[in-house]
Amino acid sequence: MTVGRLFVVSAPSGAGKTTLLKRVMAEIPGLVFSISHTTRSPRPGEQDGVDYHFVSRGEFLSMIDQGLFLEYADVHDNLYGTSIGAIGAQLEEGLDVILDIDVQGAAILRWKKQLEATHIFISPPNLTELERRLRGRGTESEEKIQLRLRNGAVEMRAASEYEYLIINENIDEAAHLLASIILAERARAHRLPSGKPISKRVFT
Ligand code: 5GP
Repeated sequence: MTVGRLFVVSAPSGAGKTTLLKRVMAEIPGLVFSISHTTRSPRPGEQDGVDYHFVSRGEFLSMIDQGLFLEYADVHDNLYGTSIGAIGAQLEEGLDVILDIDVQGAAILRWKKQLEATHIFISPPNLTELERRLRGRGTESEEKIQLRLRNGAVEMRAASEYEYLIINENIDEAAHLLASIILAERARAHRLPSGKPISKRVFT
């Protein structure tokens, strides 16, 4: 049975990650997005169960108590988490799963070493461009923009912890690079259908 692969993708808010992920997911079959839980309020156009599972702080804390999260973190004053249920079934179906999570969540997964994953960091060309994009979205209050910018500067320092770094200056080039990384990871020799290392499959 083929078990899917995990791709952990992090970026400062405003780096263009959501646009990039949507583009690549429309292009590459068998790639799905893990739907996180969050205590943040939905933005206009966001749908519960599609963009996130929007829950109250009480519900989120109760999920933590029940041990339902693979990882969770406080990001920009809201809680965000990946539930084990959100990804287990997809991986078992052989789908590759993208975890769009912050640098703290990615560090937890690296530390836990429970699941093999490819870690990709998406960076804006610089912080001035990050601010321009964040303001251009028009979805956050000035206070929230300032918080996301401060956090963005800290998040950029974690880039070296990732296996791949994509600088999103040109969206077409960045999307091409992200798709290439995903396809190259899929083609790794040990990712054969049985999940066994190649030597075991070929020589035993
Ligand atoms: P936004 O509020 O803009 O949708 O997301 C804010 C940040 O939360 C982003 O950096 C995003 O990657 C992160 N995030 C979304 N879901 C999760 C999650 O399940 N776990 C963690 N640790 N971060 C998440």
